[in-house]
Amino acid sequence: MIQKGIFSSSGRVFIVWFLTLMAVSAAFPADHVPGVFKPFRVLVIIGDQWEDPASYLVEMPGSTGQYSGYDAAPEVQGPCDFHHLVVLLKSWGIPFDVIRLDQQYLDRYMFLDMSGNSKYGTIIWDVNVSEKLLPADFSIITEMINHYGIGLIGLSDRISQPEIQSLLGLKYIGGWESNDKLMSTDIHFLTRGISSPMEADSGVELNHVQRQQVEILKGTVTVVNQGPFAQVTAKEYPTGGRTVWIGNDHNHMFSYQGLRTLLRRAITWTIGYNLYKTWENDVIMIMDDPGGASSAWLKHWHYAGLSEQMIEDFLIKPLVEHKAVLNINFVPAFVNDDKMQLEPAWTQQFTDEFGTRHDNVSSKKGYDKGVKMGVFEVMCHGLTHMQPDLVSDPGWYGTHLEKERSEVGWYREFGDTRRLQEIPAAEQLWRMKTAMSWLKEQFGKTPLEFCAGGLGTSVTYFNNTAKLAAQAGFGWCDWETGYLGRDLVVRNWKFFGTPESPLMIPVLPDGHDFGISRDPGKFTAIFDQYPRHRFMGMNEFIGYLHAASSSAWDLKEEKLTIDVAYDPHYCQDFNERSTTWNLEFADWLLQEAGAVSSVKVDGVGIAFSGIQVQIPQGTGEHTIEVMF
Ligand SMILES: [Zn+2]
Repeated sequence: MIQKGIFSSSGRVFIVWFLTLMAVSAAFPADHVPGVFKPFRVLVIIGDQWEDPASYLVEMPGSTGQYSGYDAAPEVQGPCDFHHLVVLLKSWGIPFDVIRLDQQYLDRYMFLDMSGNSKYGTIIWDVNVSEKLLPADFSIITEMINHYGIGLIGLSDRISQPEIQSLLGLKYIGGWESNDKLMSTDIHFLTRGISSPMEADSGVELNHVQRQQVEILKGTVTVVNQGPFAQVTAKEYPTGGRTVWIGNDHNHMFSYQGLRTLLRRAITWTIGYNLYKTWENDVIMIMDDPGGASSAWLKHWHYAGLSEQMIEDFLIKPLVEHKAVLNINFVPAFVNDDKMQLEPAWTQQFTDEFGTRHDNVSSKKGYDKGVKMGVFEVMCHGLTHMQPDLVSDPGWYGTHLEKERSEVGWYREFGDTRRLQEIPAAEQLWRMKTAMSWLKEQFGKTPLEFCAGGLGTSVTYFNNTAKLAAQAGFGWCDWETGYLGRDLVVRNWKFFGTPESPLMIPVLPDGHDFGISRDPGKFTAIFDQYPRHRFMGMNEFIGYLHAASSSAWDLKEEKLTIDVAYDPHYCQDFNERSTTWNLEFADWLLQEAGAVSSVKVDGVGIAFSGIQVQIPQGTGEHTIEVMF
């Protein structure tokens, strides 16, 4: 076993020493200095904050049912720290796993592979106090930091365990309300470039936000203060293990852009490096409804779809001019009232009972042009935008325009808003999968975003519309609902319009082709509302959310290799687009390993500016090799 003293020597000495060791033992030894060259993966450890016992659906917890006394309704928010963490890690593309201590027993091999090498570069500790937690031996965490050099990031008041406080180098006292400003102290890697005082996102009420109070122990550095109390601290261990505590209120801490950036920086600092995505001045503009049947039947939503000429003049032309993409939720099927059945949408040509002429063949020609030119992105707005059951009482087929036809509840598909009940899971799934394959056949593109018509959805666990859409293979749900994947479904997504997520905006004037059919000239005003913004495609965002990174160190060649895998389905946008990631190194790693001497992407040397790395187009596996 390696002795402590060796770890504190300089990196160069270590590497020479290590190479000597390599000469003696040919295989990569299990007991190498673990705390310097760490794997790129984060382990999130929580208590019982994950409401889904099946560990798949991540939702923002609702009210606990308790009254705060500040409002007329019981509005005390359930704990949302875990939800926010998942949104942040997913949005940055940082790979992670979750351990939940309400269902799992802490075990050394949660952290180590069979050969005894650490599998994680850092741990995010977010374990609440709850009677529902199983017995846990927290000394395992002490061993992981002290012996294996894994990093530890403790959050807010989720640090009640004495072993965790000791590792963070502090004693927890308690939390009380304070709106004092969060101020950076000295210059530290963790706070570099982060504005001080930190600003909360607009609309966040800070008067009832808790500040935590801790006693700082010897060897711990205070990085951020809130009034007279430390609110972010850092500590280094001779093994290379590093620990960070980020205080403030567990429900509100990530309302501060500064603390979000600081969490990401803490991941870099505890692992030594980080590959992550951020979004700056990026917007996703969305239009709903082309192909939908409600335009022919619903009196208050009645209009003729856009003609080929209108699409060319009022959409394609300005989009090309502004190098912009319009993301369109198409409806691939139409309900034929005479035949009492659904049919493909784009062959329909008829005059409705209001006397309006519908020519979907002309619309389709226009949409096809935009799709071919890359200014329209094909997304899925369900199959028909209408109830699956149009027959049962009170029935829709053949009814009067001023009676059942004028009830908006008929024009929803994934929740029965006419009869106030859910749609069975298998029926939803068939509609989703059929819509995906019909749209692929109609436009030659596989839609990756699913948006339920009129947001009519089913919410109980087995019928949950978002969960079923993930099962159907979609990668994002609705305009703003969130991430869909084989690993997780994350609803109530957050941080739109910040570095964590592009802003979702409705097409002018009303987010639908309805508005454009009445006032097509309004469309271009969006470019004045968001000057200097990039109007990007939804599938690009989905591709980044589904990218999978992992890393390996080759100490003989002093080389770090980060693999970035793009799934051929979810990341299909990258077949036609290069991708850009931020590659960040902690100051200490560059001291230990030496400065970056070269960076290769897919085996080809690139000029590395110290910030961004560009990966050539193509799905599948890519490699970033960093030589020190
Ligand atoms: Zn719609």
